Amino acid sequence: MFHSINKGLLLSLFVSLVFIGPLKAQEKATDVVMVLHGGAGTILPEYMDEKKQAEIAGELERALRTGFKLWQEGYSSLDMVESAIVILENSPDFNAGRGAVFTYDGHNELDASIMYGANQDAGAVAGVTNIKNPIIAARAVMENSPHVLLSREGAEQFAASQDIEQADSAYFYTRKSYEALERAQANEKNGGSINPLSDEKMGTVGAVALDKGGHLSAGTSTGGMTNKRWGRIGDSPLPGAGTYANDATVGVSCTGHGEYFIRQSVAYDMHALMAYKGLSVDEAANTIVHHKLKKIDALGGLIALDKKGNAALSFNTVGMYRAYITKTGEITIRFFEEEIE
Ligand code: ASP
Repeated sequence: MFHSINKGLLLSLFVSLVFIGPLKAQEKATDVVMVLHGGAGTILPEYMDEKKQAEIAGELERALRTGFKLWQEGYSSLDMVESAIVILENSPDFNAGRGAVFTYDGHNELDASIMYGANQDAGAVAGVTNIKNPIIAARAVMENSPHVLLSREGAEQFAASQDIEQADSAYFYTRKSYEALERAQANEKNGGSINPLSDEKMGTVGAVALDKGGHLSAGTSTGGMTNKRWGRIGDSPLPGAGTYANDATVGVSCTGHGEYFIRQSVAYDMHALMAYKGLSVDEAANTIVHHKLKKIDALGGLIALDKKGNAALSFNTVGMYRAYITKTGEITIRFFEEEIE
């Protein structure tokens, strides 16, 4: 699962650096039924001991296997996406649900969205503080309300009316997220310009799945960005920015510096490049992540899956937690850039 750098890789790294510039952190895969990300950022081998790597890989694998079982049993891609994201939201290791990062005021405000490729139905919640699994609430907004995006107390009231499980603020406390807030605030005090994606790993989660009926779904869940304030909302709960699905083209979930992803309509842009320009999922991801976003110093990445099961996993940070499972149940899990073969 974890490849150490071998001579062949070093040679190809050298050749790439000399002839085509730095390696592009992008992978493609075929026959994929579900692809996940666990956030992009400063994910480097030296920052993670093997125990932590194994723990995170175990959670990604569990999420993949859960989605895969649903796929085998003929469930919808919405069920696959929701169930996989619930597993990651319940882990303290990701910036979603339980492990959400802290706001400037020391709270956790969670965002999530889900979208169905068959009809572009979408649901989302933003800035919620007491919903254990925001992705479940997002799906409920889609299926049981006339709206797409509910926020803050209103979203919480709606979720309560749907009997969606609640959690108190203590549930969302993790030391690593609180320490990240302290570092960000110390940095701010010292006049440092905060660039959380280059200074910290992120950990937003996302899933895209393709079911046996040929329908794509995508979902994203996050605590947003450490030290956010004034009710800041990022791209993750916004269909078209952080999440998008259309059976005709692609399902997409993004992770990165949300302000840029909103301004660039990144997830919808994947659809647009494929629908109007005829690009493949791999070409569209490369264009957006390594050219359009790179040009404006926007850090992050995305996962995308097309209707034929071709996946692209692309990031312009040094790492992105990412994983996928194929029709035959074969699993790939990677964290770092140098693992790309
Ligand atoms: N995109 C998320 C946000 O801006 C953060 C992330 O993906 O890590 O809220």
